[in-house]
Amino acid sequence: QASTGDLPAKSHVDDLIADAHARYAGLSDGVVADYIPILAEAEPSWFGLTLVGINGSTHSAGDADITFSIQSISKAFVFALVCEEVGHAAIHDRIGVNNTGLPFNSVMAVELNGGNPMNSMVNAGAIATTALMPGRTIAAKWENIRNGLSRFAGRALEMDDTVYESEMLTNQRNKAIARLLQSYKRLDPDPLDIVDIYTRQCALSVTATDLAIMGSTLANGGVNPITGEQVVSAWASRDTLALLASCGLYERSGEWLFEVGLPAKSGVSGGIVAVAPGKGALGAFSPPLDSAGNSIRGQRACAYLSRSLGLNLFASS
Ligand code: GLU
Repeated sequence: QASTGDLPAKSHVDDLIADAHARYAGLSDGVVADYIPILAEAEPSWFGLTLVGINGSTHSAGDADITFSIQSISKAFVFALVCEEVGHAAIHDRIGVNNTGLPFNSVMAVELNGGNPMNSMVNAGAIATTALMPGRTIAAKWENIRNGLSRFAGRALEMDDTVYESEMLTNQRNKAIARLLQSYKRLDPDPLDIVDIYTRQCALSVTATDLAIMGSTLANGGVNPITGEQVVSAWASRDTLALLASCGLYERSGEWLFEVGLPAKSGVSGGIVAVAPGKGALGAFSPPLDSAGNSIRGQRACAYLSRSLGLNLFASS
């Protein structure tokens, strides 16, 4: 049997993915997000898993083809595109790369740090990062984001209008964060225009399989393993993964790294992408969340697969 990068043989990986699904499908912990009203309509039993190796081999179980809004996971891929454009030093100086230790939509994190958005995985930093996306007009910036994320996924991603409209009616806090950044001269374009694009990027529809392909592109030095396209450079992929390791699972990023040992990003609709550099990536989807906003089944399944596939970055053998 051919092996998948450094992964075990295909049939063994298929068995482990099916195992991970069977083990955690019955978990009933967690709460589906409802602060964006439309998200509350998600079915708590949905649970999909996909692993895509850097050679393009794909292994799925459960609801791997159900679409959901990408939410915060968009932050990882917009970051990679912006990082490529502005460079390592500008990211460090203009946004920052340290965990806030506070919830993703914290205003205090900005205040306590003199207007510094801290990192691109919390809302303040993500809004500041979206503002750095190339494009002379707001429409051009949005098109570059949609196109860029589509190249990561290897297919044209579409925005879910219902999710966008639902969030635009309830995102006063993100608008306030953008105004606060503007008051600290950390946001050049019109703050409300940037929140509009940020909300659109969060409303792009994806599946667990899309997430695994997107993550595997980062695992593969920026080359999409399905289409063969170089989406971002190897160094931008590396910088993105470093940031995901410290900031990808909200204020639980330390616990996640301790248990799973992989850079990852989660979102409030229940998605998680976890990346094994040089090997591949896992996409998980299940709506019930812990109190920080991370999918419960997704975390458990990734931890199990990291152990059973030997993916933990810190393991010496
Ligand atoms: N669009 C959501 C927000 O800005 C994303 C949150 C998340 O997934 O963490 O509140």
